Amino acid sequence: MSAGTSGIHHVTAISGGPQRNVDFYAGVLGTRLVKKTVNFDDPGTYHLYYGDGNAAPGTIMTFFPWEGAPKGRIGSGQVITTSYSIPETSLGFWTQRLVEHGVRFQKPRDRFGDTVLAFEDPDGLRLEIVASSDTRAGHDGPTPAEHSVRGFHHAALAVRDAERTIELMTNHLGFRRVDEAENRVRLAAGDGGPGNLVDVMDATDFPRGNTGVGTVHHIAFRVPDEETHLAVREEIEGLGYDVTPVLDRNYFRSVYFREPGGVLFEIATDPPGFAADEDPEHLGEEIRLPAWLEARRGEIEEVLTPLRVPGKEGA
Ligand code: ZN
Repeated sequence: MSAGTSGIHHVTAISGGPQRNVDFYAGVLGTRLVKKTVNFDDPGTYHLYYGDGNAAPGTIMTFFPWEGAPKGRIGSGQVITTSYSIPETSLGFWTQRLVEHGVRFQKPRDRFGDTVLAFEDPDGLRLEIVASSDTRAGHDGPTPAEHSVRGFHHAALAVRDAERTIELMTNHLGFRRVDEAENRVRLAAGDGGPGNLVDVMDATDFPRGNTGVGTVHHIAFRVPDEETHLAVREEIEGLGYDVTPVLDRNYFRSVYFREPGGVLFEIATDPPGFAADEDPEHLGEEIRLPAWLEARRGEIEEVLTPLRVPGKEGA
């Protein structure tokens, strides 16, 4: 019996300048900046995390801002769209909000019975807002709790030979097929529903993607504890995949490997979570560093541009 994962933990993408990223995700989209830390492999650059009010797995979008880096190309072997979930009754609110903020979006369309608005972030990263029944709580911020983004709805992977990716995800990562349309197979893990959905799209005719600004770097799936984490790692390694050792990411533990379609997958633990090193009321306010970088705080803070986080609108 496969240990499996229980849904999306986070999605990590590459952006241009960090301030524009904060303005869009913590401003326009109204997600909460829940962690301001640095890229552990390149501590002179930020690693920014946005999520719901509680920084719950399944809501976490993270960015490596690479100011001045070349733009990537969205294509096969990548997460090509990241979709956020809003309540069914909030579609009018969001249509108006995107217009007010000058975000161009495509004509609303239906997918598996839900209404979808597609648009791009300021770096060209492809996003959607999906209006569906989502029982997760909202949070007050630039958008009122009633209408706020609940977290992810799903992420869409584009791969050549979709069946191989689907086989891996359904037999070994805890997913099951729940729907199918056009060239898209919808998979669900754990409890299913928004936040636990991944669409696998056949991209045989797509050019291969290139990592860079405006593209997703990897997608992480969640496991509840370290024991499950090790079991999934062992199972994937047993299939012949080149899996990294367990890495301590301060807020979760991680392993990475590339699935057959070329998408970088991460398996991440829910614990210890984003309140591991700061008060849940004040997440994301200060730059947090892992213990091994704390001695270099002075020089790190000197090279990082201070960020202004948008507050509650009208407050
Ligand atoms: Zn990650």
